[in-house]
Amino acid sequence: MAVFERKPRSSVPEKPVMFEKILIANRGEIALRIQRACREMGIKTVAVHSEADAEAKYVKLADESVCIGPAPSSHSYLHVPAIISAAEVTDAQAIHPGYGFLSENADFSERCEKSGFVFIGPRAETIRLMGDKVSAKAAMNKAGVPCVPGVEGSLPDDPAEIIKIARHIGYPVIIKAAGGGGGRGMRVVHTEAALLNAVTMTKTEAQAAFNNPMVYMEKFLENPRHIEIQVLADQHGNAVYLGERDCSMQRRHQKVIEEAPAPGVDRKLIAKIGERCAEACRKIGYRGAGTFEFLYENGEFYFIEMNTRVQVEHPVTELITGVDIVQQQIRVAAGEKLPFRQKDLEFRGHAVECRINAEHPYTFVPSPGRITTWHVPGGPGIRVDSHVYANYFIPPHYDSMIGKLIAYGDTRDQAIARMRTALSEMAVEGIQTNIPLHQELMSDAAFVRGGTSIHYLEHKLAERTKGK
Ligand code: ADP
Repeated sequence: MAVFERKPRSSVPEKPVMFEKILIANRGEIALRIQRACREMGIKTVAVHSEADAEAKYVKLADESVCIGPAPSSHSYLHVPAIISAAEVTDAQAIHPGYGFLSENADFSERCEKSGFVFIGPRAETIRLMGDKVSAKAAMNKAGVPCVPGVEGSLPDDPAEIIKIARHIGYPVIIKAAGGGGGRGMRVVHTEAALLNAVTMTKTEAQAAFNNPMVYMEKFLENPRHIEIQVLADQHGNAVYLGERDCSMQRRHQKVIEEAPAPGVDRKLIAKIGERCAEACRKIGYRGAGTFEFLYENGEFYFIEMNTRVQVEHPVTELITGVDIVQQQIRVAAGEKLPFRQKDLEFRGHAVECRINAEHPYTFVPSPGRITTWHVPGGPGIRVDSHVYANYFIPPHYDSMIGKLIAYGDTRDQAIARMRTALSEMAVEGIQTNIPLHQELMSDAAFVRGGTSIHYLEHKLAERTKGK
């Protein structure tokens, strides 16, 4: 069988040869986004899908498709042997993991490479290093990236030591799971009396959820913004930053609106922090697209984690830089050099993205089912990234995000004005969506001013409930 004959490709081919066929190990809007990038580059695509996604148009649009299992992700989009087999039978040369699912799974990337497929992302050891928040923080400290004040390493067992560390950092502190993700495995502690209990509880949770009981402690920042830096690095030691995104509009640590650039932040400071991130990429031998996430408070940046994959919000960066991030991921994975240097990159205009979710706009209860009407807006500066259409059935098994509406303008005000018009034109029937919430936020005085903190949306929603 081909599997035994296939020779692993060396990580840097001597002369880059572009892939002829890529398997897309994901679903929904990002699967379509990757498919579009491939088609433009003349690369054939293989869509893998669960039984629940068999009828989706983007699956039919792919050159080939393979059903990899039943609806639950654990039996399909997370089922590594099925995905590897699909790549073997279709003779794909590379695998794009998208975001979520297996995109930050070092074992999966290793399995791809061992089976002779290029994993479109960083090396397994980089994913591992950045997947553990304690080792990621240590690596970033070493590379000169500013981190949230705390103590390096995971917490010891000795209660007296833990108390000493917290006093040294100063309350409030936050206890975080080294293996945490998706906004889980964190606990804020305001007083010494609550400390030890919080540590024990977070450890127990971390063990259950991430199979890793290690926790660490850092200063809890009271009113920060979430600002992240997009990077791109090739396999030849070149790395650039593509500016920043402000993703402070969040609910339960989940981003709702993203924009680029971040309003009101000193451009010189962005250049400085961006250069530090690019330099860190060179130091750790990073390859591909990645994001350094920071909390930003009182004019200072504090690293919290790195995402070693393409992000949902990548379009806002694409619009202000003109760089196709997904295509660059593919080119870098094939061994090509980045086609630009930092000095060639220009940041122009402003872009805002609204995540369109199938959910009740205020209770956030998911609203899967059949979409009867789907009318998307258009016009200058409007981009819609979505895999859905009228008569599409949203399966209940996956994330509620059904698309992204992105508006670009010369200025932030113009981007917001275009977004307002776009939201008013957008018509979705048959299910509920969070479009009304986005409409409210686009006219919210604090959002329009810019620079709200990560707590703003939660506070606004709480006020709304109280007012009822
Ligand atoms: P995850 O990997 O689960 O997303 P992060 O480390 O990225 O975890 O943190 C998620 C969110 O938790 C941040 O966007 C922020 O809202 C909050 N958070 C994390 N660390 C701190 C901190 N030290 N101070 C204040 N808020 C924090």
